[in-house]
Amino acid sequence: MLALPQVAKSKVALPCSALDNMRLVLLGPPSAGKGTQASLLSQRFDILHLATGDILREAVAAGSSLGKKAKKFMDTGALVPDAIVIGLLEGKMKSTQSQTGFILDGFPRNVDQAKQLEEFTDLDLVLCIEVDPNRLVERATGRRSCKNCGAIYHVRYNPPKQLGICDKCGGPLFLRDDDNEEIVRKRLRTYEDQTKPVIQYYESIGKLKYVEGEGSIEDVQKKLLDAIVEQWPQLKDAAYGPMPVKKPVVSTPPKPSPQPSQQPRPQHGQGAPHGGGGRSHRGGRGRGRRGRYFGKPGSKGPNKP
Ligand code: ADP
Ligand code: ZN
Repeated sequence: MLALPQVAKSKVALPCSALDNMRLVLLGPPSAGKGTQASLLSQRFDILHLATGDILREAVAAGSSLGKKAKKFMDTGALVPDAIVIGLLEGKMKSTQSQTGFILDGFPRNVDQAKQLEEFTDLDLVLCIEVDPNRLVERATGRRSCKNCGAIYHVRYNPPKQLGICDKCGGPLFLRDDDNEEIVRKRLRTYEDQTKPVIQYYESIGKLKYVEGEGSIEDVQKKLLDAIVEQWPQLKDAAYGPMPVKKPVVSTPPKPSPQPSQQPRPQHGQGAPHGGGGRSHRGGRGRGRRGRYFGKPGSKGPNKP
Protein backbone atom coordinates (compact mmCIF):
# COMPACT_ATOMS: atom_id res chain seq x y z
CA MET A 1 0.00 0.00 0.00
CA LEU A 2 1.49 3.28 -1.04
CA ALA A 3 1.41 6.12 1.41
CA LEU A 4 0.32 9.46 0.11
CA PRO A 5 2.97 12.15 0.33
CA GLN A 6 2.66 14.47 3.29
CA VAL A 7 0.38 17.32 2.39
CA ALA A 8 -0.14 20.47 4.35
CA LYS A 9 -3.82 20.42 5.13
CA SER A 10 -3.96 23.62 7.10
CA LYS A 11 -5.85 26.38 5.38
CA VAL A 12 -3.56 29.18 4.37
CA ALA A 13 -4.88 32.60 5.28
CA LEU A 14 -4.33 34.31 1.96
CA PRO A 15 -6.58 36.84 0.31
CA CYS A 16 -8.28 34.71 -2.29
CA SER A 17 -9.75 35.94 -5.46
CA ALA A 18 -10.72 33.50 -8.15
CA LEU A 19 -9.04 35.91 -10.51
CA ASP A 20 -5.58 35.21 -9.25
CA ASN A 21 -6.00 31.58 -8.43
CA MET A 22 -8.48 29.83 -10.67
CA ARG A 23 -8.71 26.10 -10.08
CA LEU A 24 -10.61 24.26 -12.77
CA VAL A 25 -11.20 20.68 -13.78
CA LEU A 26 -12.28 19.70 -17.27
CA LEU A 27 -14.05 16.34 -17.50
CA GLY A 28 -15.70 14.50 -20.34
CA PRO A 29 -15.47 11.30 -22.34
CA PRO A 30 -12.34 10.39 -24.32
CA SER A 31 -11.77 12.75 -27.27
CA ALA A 32 -14.54 15.11 -26.19
CA GLY A 33 -12.07 17.94 -26.67
CA LYS A 34 -10.68 18.34 -23.14
CA GLY A 35 -7.06 18.77 -24.22
CA THR A 36 -7.96 21.17 -27.00
CA GLN A 37 -10.21 23.29 -24.80
CA ALA A 38 -7.94 23.20 -21.73
CA SER A 39 -5.07 24.45 -23.83
CA LEU A 40 -7.15 27.43 -25.02
CA LEU A 41 -8.36 28.23 -21.50
CA SER A 42 -4.81 27.96 -20.16
CA GLN A 43 -3.68 30.47 -22.76
CA ARG A 44 -6.54 32.85 -22.17
CA PHE A 45 -6.36 32.95 -18.38
CA ASP A 46 -2.63 32.25 -18.03
CA ILE A 47 -3.25 29.19 -15.92
CA LEU A 48 -1.29 25.97 -15.91
CA HIS A 49 -2.59 23.14 -18.09
CA LEU A 50 -2.13 19.83 -16.27
CA ALA A 51 -2.76 16.50 -17.99
CA THR A 52 -1.86 13.55 -15.79
CA GLY A 53 -1.00 11.19 -18.66
CA ASP A 54 1.71 13.61 -19.75
CA ILE A 55 2.89 14.15 -16.19
CA LEU A 56 3.28 10.37 -15.80
CA ARG A 57 5.22 10.00 -19.04
CA GLU A 58 7.41 12.93 -18.06
CA ALA A 59 8.16 11.42 -14.61
CA VAL A 60 9.05 8.09 -16.21
CA ALA A 61 11.38 9.82 -18.67
CA ALA A 62 12.98 11.83 -15.86
CA GLY A 63 13.52 8.67 -13.79
CA SER A 64 12.19 10.20 -10.55
CA SER A 65 11.33 7.81 -7.71
CA LEU A 66 7.57 8.12 -8.35
CA GLY A 67 8.28 7.84 -12.07
CA LYS A 68 10.10 4.55 -11.50
CA LYS A 69 7.19 3.23 -9.46
CA ALA A 70 4.72 4.36 -12.13
CA LYS A 71 6.75 2.70 -14.88
CA LYS A 72 6.29 -0.75 -13.36
CA PHE A 73 2.53 -0.42 -13.75
CA MET A 74 2.63 1.29 -17.12
CA ASP A 75 4.89 -1.42 -18.53
CA THR A 76 2.30 -4.08 -17.76
CA GLY A 77 -0.56 -2.04 -19.16
CA ALA A 78 -2.11 -1.63 -15.70
CA LEU A 79 -3.51 1.59 -14.32
CA VAL A 80 -1.02 3.48 -12.18
CA PRO A 81 -2.21 3.50 -8.53
CA ASP A 82 -4.00 6.64 -7.41
CA ALA A 83 -1.37 7.48 -4.78
CA ILE A 84 1.39 7.71 -7.37
CA VAL A 85 -0.66 9.82 -9.75
CA ILE A 86 -1.76 12.14 -6.97
CA GLY A 87 1.81 12.37 -5.64
CA LEU A 88 3.13 13.37 -9.05
CA LEU A 89 0.34 15.84 -9.60
CA GLU A 90 0.88 17.48 -6.26
CA GLY A 91 4.62 17.67 -6.91
CA LYS A 92 3.96 19.32 -10.25
CA MET A 93 1.60 21.83 -8.71
CA LYS A 94 4.10 22.75 -6.01
CA SER A 95 7.07 23.00 -8.33
CA THR A 96 5.33 25.36 -10.70
CA GLN A 97 3.94 27.58 -7.92
CA SER A 98 1.48 29.23 -10.21
CA GLN A 99 -0.08 32.45 -9.08
CA THR A 100 -2.99 32.16 -11.39
CA GLY A 101 -4.15 28.60 -10.92
CA PHE A 102 -4.58 25.55 -13.09
CA ILE A 103 -6.82 23.52 -15.29
CA LEU A 104 -6.78 19.78 -14.80
CA ASP A 105 -7.46 17.96 -18.04
CA GLY A 106 -9.12 14.57 -17.67
CA PHE A 107 -8.34 14.08 -14.01
CA PRO A 108 -9.69 12.77 -11.62
CA ARG A 109 -10.78 9.54 -13.30
CA ASN A 110 -12.43 7.87 -10.32
CA VAL A 111 -14.13 8.99 -7.14
CA ASP A 112 -11.18 8.02 -4.94
CA GLN A 113 -8.89 10.29 -6.91
CA ALA A 114 -11.47 13.07 -6.68
CA LYS A 115 -11.63 12.75 -2.91
CA GLN A 116 -7.84 12.71 -2.56
CA LEU A 117 -7.58 15.77 -4.76
CA GLU A 118 -9.98 17.60 -2.46
CA GLU A 119 -7.51 16.89 0.37
CA PHE A 120 -4.89 19.23 -0.99
CA THR A 121 -6.62 21.68 -3.22
CA ASP A 122 -9.94 23.46 -3.24
CA LEU A 123 -11.38 23.32 -6.73
CA ASP A 124 -13.50 26.24 -7.83
CA LEU A 125 -15.31 24.74 -10.77
CA VAL A 126 -15.62 21.45 -12.64
CA LEU A 127 -16.70 21.69 -16.26
CA CYS A 128 -17.98 18.59 -17.99
CA ILE A 129 -18.02 18.49 -21.79
CA GLU A 130 -20.83 16.35 -23.22
CA VAL A 131 -20.58 14.84 -26.71
CA ASP A 132 -22.49 12.17 -28.60
CA PRO A 133 -20.51 8.86 -28.61
CA ASN A 134 -20.50 8.50 -32.41
CA ARG A 135 -18.96 11.90 -32.80
CA LEU A 136 -16.33 10.92 -30.22
CA VAL A 137 -15.13 8.06 -32.39
CA GLU A 138 -14.73 10.42 -35.34
CA ARG A 139 -12.81 12.90 -33.22
CA ALA A 140 -10.50 10.23 -31.80
CA THR A 141 -9.64 8.53 -35.08
CA GLY A 142 -8.84 11.90 -36.70
CA ARG A 143 -6.75 13.13 -33.79
CA ARG A 144 -3.05 13.81 -34.35
CA SER A 145 -0.77 14.81 -31.48
CA CYS A 146 2.66 16.42 -31.52
CA LYS A 147 5.38 14.11 -30.19
CA ASN A 148 7.35 17.09 -29.07
CA CYS A 149 4.98 19.54 -27.37
CA GLY A 150 1.72 17.60 -27.11
CA ALA A 151 -0.30 20.05 -29.23
CA ILE A 152 -3.49 18.47 -30.59
CA TYR A 153 -4.82 18.60 -34.14
CA HIS A 154 -7.57 16.91 -36.11
CA VAL A 155 -7.13 15.88 -39.73
CA ARG A 156 -10.47 17.41 -40.63
CA TYR A 157 -11.55 19.80 -37.88
CA ASN A 158 -8.27 21.35 -36.84
CA PRO A 159 -5.60 20.44 -39.40
CA PRO A 160 -2.02 21.67 -39.08
CA LYS A 161 -0.81 24.09 -41.74
CA GLN A 162 1.64 21.51 -43.04
CA LEU A 163 0.68 17.84 -43.15
CA GLY A 164 2.16 15.85 -40.25
CA ILE A 165 4.06 18.82 -38.79
CA CYS A 166 3.19 20.74 -35.61
CA ASP A 167 2.38 24.43 -36.19
CA LYS A 168 3.70 25.35 -32.78
CA CYS A 169 7.08 23.63 -32.64
CA GLY A 170 7.68 21.87 -35.96
CA GLY A 171 7.61 18.46 -34.23
CA PRO A 172 6.20 15.33 -35.91
CA LEU A 173 2.51 14.51 -35.49
CA PHE A 174 1.37 10.99 -34.69
CA LEU A 175 -1.77 8.93 -34.27
CA ARG A 176 -2.12 7.49 -30.78
CA ASP A 177 -2.26 3.69 -30.57
CA ASP A 178 -5.48 3.87 -28.57
CA ASP A 179 -7.23 6.10 -31.11
CA ASN A 180 -8.75 3.34 -33.23
CA GLU A 181 -12.49 2.73 -33.22
CA GLU A 182 -12.45 -0.49 -31.22
CA ILE A 183 -10.30 0.87 -28.43
CA VAL A 184 -12.16 4.17 -28.36
CA ARG A 185 -15.41 2.30 -27.76
CA LYS A 186 -13.73 0.34 -24.95
CA ARG A 187 -12.43 3.57 -23.41
CA LEU A 188 -15.94 4.96 -23.59
CA ARG A 189 -17.21 2.02 -21.55
CA THR A 190 -14.49 2.56 -18.93
CA TYR A 191 -15.53 6.17 -18.82
CA GLU A 192 -19.15 5.22 -18.22
CA ASP A 193 -18.17 2.84 -15.40
CA GLN A 194 -15.47 4.80 -13.60
CA THR A 195 -15.62 8.45 -14.52
CA LYS A 196 -19.38 9.05 -14.64
CA PRO A 197 -19.48 8.62 -10.84
CA VAL A 198 -16.87 11.40 -10.56
CA ILE A 199 -19.27 13.70 -12.35
CA GLN A 200 -22.03 12.74 -9.95
CA TYR A 201 -19.64 13.36 -7.05
CA TYR A 202 -18.88 16.90 -8.20
CA GLU A 203 -22.55 17.51 -8.84
CA SER A 204 -23.31 16.41 -5.27
CA ILE A 205 -20.84 18.94 -3.83
CA GLY A 206 -22.17 21.72 -6.07
CA LYS A 207 -19.08 22.28 -8.22
CA LEU A 208 -20.24 20.94 -11.57
CA LYS A 209 -21.39 22.68 -14.71
CA TYR A 210 -22.22 20.82 -17.93
CA VAL A 211 -21.14 22.24 -21.24
CA GLU A 212 -22.47 20.96 -24.54
CA GLY A 213 -19.48 19.81 -26.60
CA GLU A 214 -21.00 19.55 -30.08
CA GLY A 215 -20.12 22.20 -32.64
CA SER A 216 -16.79 23.66 -33.61
CA ILE A 217 -13.81 24.07 -31.30
CA GLU A 218 -14.60 27.81 -31.16
CA ASP A 219 -18.28 27.15 -30.33
CA VAL A 220 -17.36 24.85 -27.47
CA GLN A 221 -14.74 27.27 -26.18
CA LYS A 222 -17.39 30.01 -26.15
CA LYS A 223 -19.72 27.80 -24.09
CA LEU A 224 -16.94 27.04 -21.62
CA LEU A 225 -16.19 30.75 -21.34
CA ASP A 226 -19.90 31.44 -20.76
CA ALA A 227 -19.85 28.94 -17.88
CA ILE A 228 -16.75 30.59 -16.42
CA VAL A 229 -18.27 34.06 -16.69
CA GLU A 230 -21.44 32.78 -15.05
CA GLN A 231 -19.23 31.73 -12.14
CA TRP A 232 -17.05 34.86 -12.15
CA PRO A 233 -18.83 37.78 -13.84
CA GLN A 234 -15.74 39.94 -13.25
CA LEU A 235 -13.88 37.82 -15.82
CA LYS A 236 -16.15 38.95 -18.64
CA ASP A 237 -13.56 41.18 -20.36
CA ALA A 238 -10.81 38.61 -19.99
CA ALA A 239 -13.07 35.87 -21.32
CA TYR A 240 -14.41 37.59 -24.40
CA GLY A 241 -11.53 39.93 -25.26
CA PRO A 242 -8.77 39.05 -27.69
CA MET A 243 -6.55 36.12 -26.79
CA PRO A 244 -3.53 37.30 -24.77
CA VAL A 245 -0.16 37.13 -26.44
CA LYS A 246 2.38 34.88 -24.80
CA LYS A 247 4.48 37.00 -22.49
CA PRO A 248 8.25 36.68 -22.63
CA VAL A 249 9.91 34.79 -19.80
CA VAL A 250 11.28 37.35 -17.37
CA SER A 251 14.03 36.85 -14.86
CA THR A 252 13.25 39.96 -12.82
CA PRO A 253 11.38 39.49 -9.52
CA PRO A 254 7.61 39.27 -9.91
CA LYS A 255 5.38 42.14 -8.96
CA PRO A 256 3.14 41.66 -5.92
CA SER A 257 -0.19 39.97 -6.63
CA PRO A 258 -3.01 42.35 -7.45
CA GLN A 259 -5.68 42.80 -4.85
CA PRO A 260 -9.04 41.17 -5.48
CA SER A 261 -10.64 44.51 -6.28
CA GLN A 262 -8.27 45.12 -9.18
CA GLN A 263 -8.78 44.21 -12.80
CA PRO A 264 -8.66 40.57 -13.87
CA ARG A 265 -5.17 39.17 -14.21
CA PRO A 266 -5.11 38.17 -17.88
CA GLN A 267 -3.39 40.82 -19.96
CA HIS A 268 -4.58 41.16 -23.48
CA GLY A 269 -2.51 41.77 -26.50
CA GLN A 270 -3.57 44.64 -28.68
CA GLY A 271 -5.75 42.75 -31.10
CA ALA A 272 -3.26 39.93 -31.19
CA PRO A 273 -4.18 36.82 -33.14
CA HIS A 274 -4.75 33.50 -31.47
CA GLY A 275 -1.90 31.12 -31.03
CA GLY A 276 0.36 32.61 -28.37
CA GLY A 277 0.27 29.44 -26.31
CA GLY A 278 -0.71 29.05 -22.67
CA ARG A 279 1.33 27.55 -19.92
CA SER A 280 1.67 23.85 -20.07
CA HIS A 281 3.71 21.57 -17.92
CA ARG A 282 4.94 20.14 -21.19
CA GLY A 283 6.37 23.20 -22.86
CA GLY A 284 6.65 26.30 -20.72
CA ARG A 285 7.08 24.56 -17.38
CA GLY A 286 5.51 27.58 -15.75
CA ARG A 287 7.60 30.66 -15.47
CA GLY A 288 9.15 30.08 -12.12
CA ARG A 289 7.09 32.96 -10.78
CA ARG A 290 6.87 32.91 -7.07
CA GLY A 291 3.43 33.21 -5.75
CA ARG A 292 0.45 31.57 -4.28
CA TYR A 293 0.67 27.90 -3.60
CA PHE A 294 -2.09 25.68 -4.84
CA GLY A 295 -3.13 24.76 -1.32
CA LYS A 296 -6.56 25.38 0.01
CA PRO A 297 -7.20 29.10 0.29
CA GLY A 298 -8.44 30.89 3.35
CA SER A 299 -11.58 32.11 1.70
CA LYS A 300 -13.91 31.00 -1.01
CA GLY A 301 -14.42 32.14 -4.56
CA PRO A 302 -16.77 35.00 -5.33
CA ASN A 303 -19.92 33.02 -5.82
CA LYS A 304 -19.46 30.96 -2.71
CA PRO A 305 -21.13 32.04 0.47
P1 ADP B 1 -9.69 14.77 -25.16
O1 ADP B 1 -8.57 15.54 -24.53
O2 ADP B 1 -11.02 14.99 -24.51
O3 ADP B 1 -9.40 13.31 -25.34
P2 ADP B 1 -8.92 16.19 -27.62
O4 ADP B 1 -8.85 17.62 -27.20
O5 ADP B 1 -7.64 15.47 -27.83
O6 ADP B 1 -9.90 15.36 -26.66
O7 ADP B 1 -9.79 16.18 -28.97
C1 ADP B 1 -10.01 14.98 -29.68
C2 ADP B 1 -9.92 15.23 -31.18
O8 ADP B 1 -11.09 15.94 -31.59
C3 ADP B 1 -8.74 16.07 -31.60
O9 ADP B 1 -8.30 15.61 -32.84
C4 ADP B 1 -9.29 17.47 -31.73
O10 ADP B 1 -8.58 18.25 -32.68
C5 ADP B 1 -10.71 17.19 -32.16
N1 ADP B 1 -11.68 18.14 -31.61
C6 ADP B 1 -11.71 18.66 -30.37
N2 ADP B 1 -12.78 19.45 -30.22
C7 ADP B 1 -13.45 19.43 -31.41
C8 ADP B 1 -14.64 20.04 -31.90
N3 ADP B 1 -15.38 20.85 -31.14
N4 ADP B 1 -15.02 19.77 -33.17
C9 ADP B 1 -14.29 18.95 -33.95
N5 ADP B 1 -13.16 18.34 -33.55
C10 ADP B 1 -12.73 18.57 -32.29
ZN1 ZN C 1 4.55 20.62 -31.24
